[in-house]
Amino acid sequence: MNLILMGLPGAGKGTQADKINETYHIPHISTGDMFRLAIKEGTELGQKAKEYMDQGALVPDDVTTGIVKERLGKEDCKDGFLLDGFPRTVAQAESLQTLLEEMGESIDYVLHVEVPEDDLVERLAGRRICPTCGATYHVTHNPPQKEGICDNDGTELIQREDDQAETVKNRLSVNLEQMKPLLNFYHHKGCLVKIDGDQEIDQVFKDIQSAIKS
Ligand SMILES: [Zn+2]
Repeated sequence: MNLILMGLPGAGKGTQADKINETYHIPHISTGDMFRLAIKEGTELGQKAKEYMDQGALVPDDVTTGIVKERLGKEDCKDGFLLDGFPRTVAQAESLQTLLEEMGESIDYVLHVEVPEDDLVERLAGRRICPTCGATYHVTHNPPQKEGICDNDGTELIQREDDQAETVKNRLSVNLEQMKPLLNFYHHKGCLVKIDGDQEIDQVFKDIQSAIKS
């Protein structure tokens, strides 16, 4: 099963991605992880991507798509994958489609986790991250067992600068504008599924499961 997970920052994508991964045993492939892996493995494309990233420049689409191709060709993707953070533009979505066609594959569902923008602001401002393992928590919706401390490794949790209230609103509107053409693209392909993300975490996941089954 080949899935794409979409949603604004704070919509709970990471949490749902973990649940999808546990239940369906398909790898959660985020753009950041994909770049890190390619750079670590020292592939030609990974080295190219690193050059751009070191300069603080955007990695061009052909390099990004090449890295996606390498990643989707790996053994753990043979039963499917969950993409998160890619594609980001319609051009990338078209490249992905071409790439999947070459592999005899296609996207089954694009899951769009929707949450009203006001709620997202509240969610993001309450988000805390573990700088050691990358686990994410929320002060009210998903708190760690001990306040301010990571359950996995005992590290003190931090609030990212990006998650401070004043920057959140601006980030959301920029993201929404970027996402609209992409949602449109997948809507016309007939594989876009809207998921109500404004519910308890387990209910959101149940909705995802029924959407995938139908
Ligand atoms: Zn941790």
